[in-house]
Amino acid sequence: MEFYSTKDKSVSYTAAQAVLHGLAPDGGLFMPRSIPTFDFRKLLGKSIAEIGEAVISPFFASSVPQEKLSSIIHDAFNFLVPLVEVSDRISVLELFHGPTFAFKDFGARFLARIIPELQQEKVCVLVATSGDTGSAVAHGFLRIPGVTVVLLYPRGRVSELQEQQMATLGENIVALEVSGSFDDCQSLVKQAFLDASLSNVLTLASANSINIARLIPQSTFYTYGASRVPDRENIFVVPSGNFGNLTGGVIAKRMGTPISHLVAATNANDVVPRYLAGEPYTPRPSVLTISNAMDVGSPNNFARLLDLFEGRSMTSEISGYAVDDDSCLEAIAEAHKTSGYLSDPHTAVGLCAAKQMLSKFPNANFIVLGTAHPGKFPETVEHAIQGKIDLPEPLKLALSKPKKSVSLLPNYSDFKDFLLSQARSTGSTL
Ligand SMILES: *Cc1c(COP(=O)(O)O)cnc(C)c1O
Repeated sequence: MEFYSTKDKSVSYTAAQAVLHGLAPDGGLFMPRSIPTFDFRKLLGKSIAEIGEAVISPFFASSVPQEKLSSIIHDAFNFLVPLVEVSDRISVLELFHGPTFAFKDFGARFLARIIPELQQEKVCVLVATSGDTGSAVAHGFLRIPGVTVVLLYPRGRVSELQEQQMATLGENIVALEVSGSFDDCQSLVKQAFLDASLSNVLTLASANSINIARLIPQSTFYTYGASRVPDRENIFVVPSGNFGNLTGGVIAKRMGTPISHLVAATNANDVVPRYLAGEPYTPRPSVLTISNAMDVGSPNNFARLLDLFEGRSMTSEISGYAVDDDSCLEAIAEAHKTSGYLSDPHTAVGLCAAKQMLSKFPNANFIVLGTAHPGKFPETVEHAIQGKIDLPEPLKLALSKPKKSVSLLPNYSDFKDFLLSQARSTGSTL
């Protein structure tokens, strides 16, 4: 499969170029030249890894041998993905049973395993994170030979647990604590990729949600979810920030997954729901909420959605709904009270949106993507349910480790100096 940039479809790139560069040289996002299709009925009853093979392989088959792809996908998707009923017509597809307890494990684990197959040199992986990306990427790449990860996160805007999960690993994982917003972190990473004087010295690779090798694996769980309940009308509700997950859903649908509708559920960072309601698309600075992994004011993957719809209206396939923090807390409390279900604040944004949509789609069942484990956000969940919850053991362990992050101002020349000094101290490449 070849890839093109959302800013210029005439040039083609290989899978290796698209995966390692993250961002196209013209600043656009990579997209697959075409979207392959499958026969959905043939996937019924298959495991998440088997479905992953059917969904992901066609995009990378010209660059990585099939057996290798197959073993990468089976190794990456080695955890359970339960579909749990929460109330009449609403269930949660729990995507958070991987090593960092969030759905980003899917994309990050696949990316970490395919990068060494696509190039021989040592590589420095750059990633901006608003929370869960950092821990998923850090754990996904820990001890992968020849790869150093530099991850940037906004000071004070990720939960203690998220920070401990990404900033305590050491080894080939470097954490930078930036005194700015997530958008600042993202902008530093974008500048680094466009800086030729840096790429002369370092082989940079991207791992944030702009990376096409993180995006495509995410189509898998839509196909898997639909395959568990194939004989009904399914609407997927997607708690969204950068809209990589939702874009994966649109791709899964184009490939042949029966998805009757998608709901883009956001917190107060509602530029996409506003756009879907007919307002002009107006990116703005992000605001802080209790679902902080979705605090994105200028969603990166919006350009991909526009590209997939080629100027057509999205509203026949996607509805938007924004949820404020109070409603989110209420949704956590209600799910807990009525069915004993514990939801994290991101999943709860989806639960709240699903409930709002019940009357608009009276014949549909709603599959809310459960994007994080409630134990990742204990303060918020305990506040909502007025009770204590248990943390999974690996999270308790992460909390007890010393933090190893380096402070950084949101200033490109400082960031560049840091990368160059790291490169000098470890040889020609990081
Ligand atoms: C990243 C993240 C989201 C948002 O996903 P996008 O692909 O950026 O829209 C939602 N919930 C959790 C827990 C996340 O970590």
